[in-house]
Amino acid sequence: MSQTPTKCDVGFIWSSSLEKFDFGRRHPIRVGRFQMVRDFLDETQFLEQPNVCVIEPKRMPEDLLSQVHSQTYLDQVKRISETGEGEIDVDTPGFKGIYENASIASGGTVSGVKAILDGRIKHFLSPTGGFHHAMYERGGGFCIFNDVAAAVYMLKSQGVNKILVADFDVHHGNGTQRYFYKDPDVMVISFHLDPEWMYPHDGFIHDIGEGPSRGHNINMHFPMDAGDAVYGFAFDEIVPPLIDWFQPEFILFLPGFDAHYLDRLANMTLTTTMIRYVASEIHDAAHKWASGRLGVLSGGGYHPDAFRWGVGEVMSILSGHPYDAPPQEPPFEDDEETWEIVRSNVSEVKRLVFPELGIE
Ligand SMILES: [Zn+2]
Ligand SMILES: [Zn+2]
Repeated sequence: MSQTPTKCDVGFIWSSSLEKFDFGRRHPIRVGRFQMVRDFLDETQFLEQPNVCVIEPKRMPEDLLSQVHSQTYLDQVKRISETGEGEIDVDTPGFKGIYENASIASGGTVSGVKAILDGRIKHFLSPTGGFHHAMYERGGGFCIFNDVAAAVYMLKSQGVNKILVADFDVHHGNGTQRYFYKDPDVMVISFHLDPEWMYPHDGFIHDIGEGPSRGHNINMHFPMDAGDAVYGFAFDEIVPPLIDWFQPEFILFLPGFDAHYLDRLANMTLTTTMIRYVASEIHDAAHKWASGRLGVLSGGGYHPDAFRWGVGEVMSILSGHPYDAPPQEPPFEDDEETWEIVRSNVSEVKRLVFPELGIE
């Protein structure tokens, strides 16, 4: 298939004002985290590629924000923002200006979606996007405003009616799941660490959606220290049949940078080889079904090397510019016990979900 040459295929969502997003120097999201990604993309020459451009994030439109969050919650964030006092939740401290900052960090996702719908780009990557824990009436887990939900609402208002959220962040996207649990226009696939002992303690396999959306909410979870081998197996068994059945018109994708073995905020042992594989499959699916329309929201990623390498692999898939992360040695190989649990979880997902959709 020949592709029409365009000036820019891939938008990198960036503004230096994102650097003011700061939960404090002891927090995983601190000043420097986003600038580091920007510097890395400069060093690796991604931003010099003719098909890559920088897109300035705009604040999230207020009407969209009040669709995504309750007025009570928005007022609470405003109060914290004015005084710098108070917190969103125990993991998510407040700071002065948090309202405006969160509005830009999340608004970047909406800016990216708009640029795709306007035909200016095919894909975008937002290093600040992916606030999947935020819910209608409250934020939490480092998330203030749910940009995934905002993007979906925006897309639906523009007549895009089949949206896939492919969430490979190591933590379950409990906020996103909640917004679309009964909405058959949205398929949410989440791969994450076992919710029994990992935040946010939600995202069980048997939560498959409600009413007309049964089978549209897919949770696959992994035991501690699961690595590339079992992850790739689960992906191949579960994801392609679902995408081919759903035939999405737009894909929002969180690559799972915090599932890397160096990232110790959680306990999975992926390498960037698997992150690249997943990104490549999702990118192919976007071209197959959605005219290439793909928005990448970085989500978590708290180890500087793992985060940068992951972004490099994903940008390489999106832009075609070559990049190889350094060789990596995870501390464990998937053992027989890990394989047993994963095989059993995969069977359970398929047993519960596939018949609802009529997938053989
Ligand atoms: Zn995460
Ligand atoms: Zn592409």
